[in-house]
Parts: sequence; structure tokens; C-alpha cells
Amino acid sequence: MTSSNAEASAEASRYEPLDLAQHRTELLAIIAAVRSAPSFDIGTLRRILRRHPRAGSGFFSKGQLLAAYRALVAAGELPFEAETFGRLQTKPVRTQSGIAAVAVLTKPAGCPGRCIFCPDDAAMPKSYLTREPGAQRALRNGFDPFRQTHNRLAALHNTGHATDKIELLILGGTWGAYSHTYGEWFIQRCLDAMNGCDSRSLTEAQELNQRAASRCVGLTIETRPDWVTPQEVLRLRRLGVTRVQLGVQSLDDRILALNGRGHDVEATRLASRLLRAAGFKLHFHWMPNLFGATPASDRADFSRLWVDPDLRPDDLKIYPTALLEGTALYDLWQQGQYQPYDQTTLVELLADCKSETPPTCRITRVVRDIPSDYIVQGSRASNLREQVQEQMANTGRRCQCIRCREVGDVALDQAALTLKVSRYETGAGLEHFLALETEAGRLAGFLRLLLPWTDRAIPRPAELEGCALIRELHVYGPALHIGAASDGQAQHRGLGGELLNAAEEIATGAGWTRLAVIAALGTRDYYRQRGFSDGELYMAKALAAAPMKP
Ligand code: SF4
Ligand SMILES: [Zn+2]
Repeated sequence: MTSSNAEASAEASRYEPLDLAQHRTELLAIIAAVRSAPSFDIGTLRRILRRHPRAGSGFFSKGQLLAAYRALVAAGELPFEAETFGRLQTKPVRTQSGIAAVAVLTKPAGCPGRCIFCPDDAAMPKSYLTREPGAQRALRNGFDPFRQTHNRLAALHNTGHATDKIELLILGGTWGAYSHTYGEWFIQRCLDAMNGCDSRSLTEAQELNQRAASRCVGLTIETRPDWVTPQEVLRLRRLGVTRVQLGVQSLDDRILALNGRGHDVEATRLASRLLRAAGFKLHFHWMPNLFGATPASDRADFSRLWVDPDLRPDDLKIYPTALLEGTALYDLWQQGQYQPYDQTTLVELLADCKSETPPTCRITRVVRDIPSDYIVQGSRASNLREQVQEQMANTGRRCQCIRCREVGDVALDQAALTLKVSRYETGAGLEHFLALETEAGRLAGFLRLLLPWTDRAIPRPAELEGCALIRELHVYGPALHIGAASDGQAQHRGLGGELLNAAEEIATGAGWTRLAVIAALGTRDYYRQRGFSDGELYMAKALAAAPMKP
């Protein structure tokens, strides 16, 4: 075991179960009460815990109760009941999209950007703040990739979450600005933690991860549009990246310049084209209330996301500008040149933005999770998302985005699902969004198929020559352990296969003879079983020739 492995195990022991023998009576009484409660919520649990305090020191945590329940089930003393397990799980929503997210931060470093709103906390990678929840975890682990990943996996496991499918999010400043050696090492060590063993190279770690207990089914990095070049796109693919968070912030050259972004809208268009043509999923960050913007200009700016074919992101984070001390924006505010929107203005603006978002995009956030005491003036509401939903409901509107339509944790009747295909033009090709929907319009799964333009010269990896391209395949439902019974839930019921068949038909019908997929390490076996074979950076299969037209 390396020293970092040893330290990681030490930290993980915070989550270790209690000595069952010592607390047996109280634990059995609590679990019996949890099992027999006719209905259950956090209030029920609190009442049960108050009735059975932990001898000597406060109350048991949910993680400890779950560990005790697991041990008693393993010893054959209690039956396994999904209902009881669910009641003891922490925040089941975290894995409801079928995949557990593990976010890690790169080490503190500067950034080539000079954005006037961006905080510069010396202890953090640029743009992050020490007391942000994710940043705290990174700091505790000394920004070490192995320890951050290992401890997050341990915490997820010990709070009852499946950890076999992991979306790894590498956050912190501008990815491309870190040295390439550091980037490679960082990803290798994250994979080592998922694999449970050390590797000698990134390639070896990638190889091992394809059959590891915790497989990487998605890898995200964040960068600036002007750092995306054809060479960088190839490097990202070699590293195994599948999704790129792009700091777009505004689609107005005047606002970009006023805020010191150092790139123009054309850079965003070009980056989006290059990344999409190479199959990456595009996750934009967009900021209302920047210096020089007004609610009206923000509404116009938001519309550009969907009107301009070069943009049209797959995922979107809306980060209303936060006024933070120590930034150049703070100086402008002190001089009376900048004013954050009031709460009502912001809520109305965000409600309008959400209403305009097409059903092919997923809004992942409408506010950044900054502790409120950092914010000098402007909205400090931690429930902004709820306020926006309420505003929409009051004005008879509903958000159509992917996140708001996911089926979540419900049993499904596959036969009752309908396949709906939406088409839209992008800079890289004709996108097809294949959605499996319930009668009520809830989303059970979707696939993004790109049919590249053949009459435009868009740089793309040579391996993709002549290929239609699957950029994303996602099936919802709770994250189940591979092989676990699925009881009608979405993940293991062949919905992915149905979407793939439909994609093949569409590509074949459009005259394509090969279909490629940007496959994360942990999904490669799945695609191999469906006839795809490994290339250097992608997997691909030949398509059966389209039937001759009479
Ligand atoms: S590019 Fe991002 S991290 Fe760098 S200064 Fe601008 S906002 Fe901050
Ligand atoms: Zn939504």
C-alpha cells in the first residue's frame, strides 16, 4: 500500500461501522422501529433515534445504522428488505440517475483567465472558495486525486449507494492550463482508487478499470473555449474524457470583453463544433447578471444558446454572477458601476430561462452552491431552484428540461414507453435526440446520435471518418449493482438496447455504413456485447446495408 492509500484508508475509517456487539441492543431496537414504521420520513427517524440514544455519546448516524443492518443481514439475523434499506440510505436522490457522481478538485493553481468576477482564493484552484462543500473535501484530502476518489467512494458505499458506475467530475480552473503530465497522473490516480490497486501508467489504469468494481462510465473536465483546439480534443480523448464543461458565460462579445473573459463568442462556437464533432457531451456554464448586462440583455443572451446552431448545449449550468469580495467586480460595485439583481428580478429571469430550455438539454444547476456569507450583495437564497419552480407554476409554466422529466425511482412498463425522435442542426452535424418516454411524458432514457455534415470541413479525429456517432446513451432508474434484480426499474431492462437499435436504423437509413460511440471505460463491455469493437479512441461497428428502395 502506498502512503496515500494508507492515509485514504485512515480517513475512510470515519465511516466504518460501530462495534455491533457493544451497541447491539440499541441498534436492534432502532432497526426494528425503522422496519415497522407505517410511514417514514426524516422526522420519523429523528423520533426513533431520540428514543434510543447511543450509550454515552449522542445519536447513531444513518451510515452506522445502515452498516449495522448490512452486518445483521449478512449474519442471517435479519431478512434483507429493500424498503428498510431505502429508509436507511442517505439522500437516495444522489444516485437516482443511475450513476454515482464523484467530484474531485485539481490542486490550487492560477488560471490564464482574468475574469473580473472570479475569486482568487490562494488555497484553492482558481474560481473555487475554501468553504464550498466540495472544496472542503478536496482540502481535507490535500487535493490528492487518489484520496479524494477513494474517500468519496467509501462515503457513498457506507451510506448505501451503489458505486459500480461512477461519473468522475474533475473540477478546478482550466484543465488545459495544468501541465499534461499532471493531468495524466491525476486521472491515473483517480482510476487507481476506483480499481483498488496502483498502476504503473494511465494506460494500465484504464485497462484495469474496464473490469473494476467501480467503473468509470463518464469523465468530465472543465475548460475555457479558447483552450479547445483539434490537438487538445485528441488529448482529451486519450485521457478518456467524455464530457466537457465549457465556461461560456455570455454570448455577447461586448459583455465578454467588459468582464475580462479574454475570448469572444466565435471561440465558443469553434470549441463547441470541435468537441461535438469528436463526440463529447457539451456542458455549458452560463452567467446572467454579469457586468454590463441587464435582465433584458440576459434574456436575449439566453435565447442565443438555442437559436445559434453552433451552440445548443447538452447540459447547462446557470450560475448567476455572485458578488464576492476581492474581485474586480467588487471594486466596480463599490464605485456604483455594478448592481446585483434583486431576488424577484433574478427569480423571474431564471423562470423565463427555464421555460425557454428545449427538452433536449439538462439544466444541472440554477445557482452555484456558495456559502451565503461569501456573497456581498444579491441573492443568498439556497432554495433558488424551488423559488424558480414556484414562479413557473404560478404562471402556468413547466420546465421541459431532461432533469425535470427523468423518471427517477419508479417501476416502468417498457411496453408502454414511446420512442420520440427530435432532430436539430448543430455546427457539427444533424443531431438526433432519441427519447423513450412514458405516457405522462417522463423520460426513461435517451440517446444522442450525430450524423456529421459531409459537405463541411470540420476537423475531427481521423478514426471517425465515415462514421455516424453516438455521443450519449443514458437510461434512468436507481443505480443498481450490476446483476442485481431490477423489479421493472429502468436500468437493466434493455432500454439501452432499444435505443441503440433505433439509432442504428436511423444511421443506416441516412446512408451511413459505420456507427461509432464515445465509450467511457466502464461502458466498453456493454458496447462489445452489442457488436462494437475497440478502436484507438472510439468503439465502432459496421452497419448492415440499408434495404434497397424499390
Ligand atoms: S477562466 Fe474560469 S477560473 Fe479562470 S479566471 Fe475566468 S472564471 Fe476564473
Ligand atoms: Zn428543468
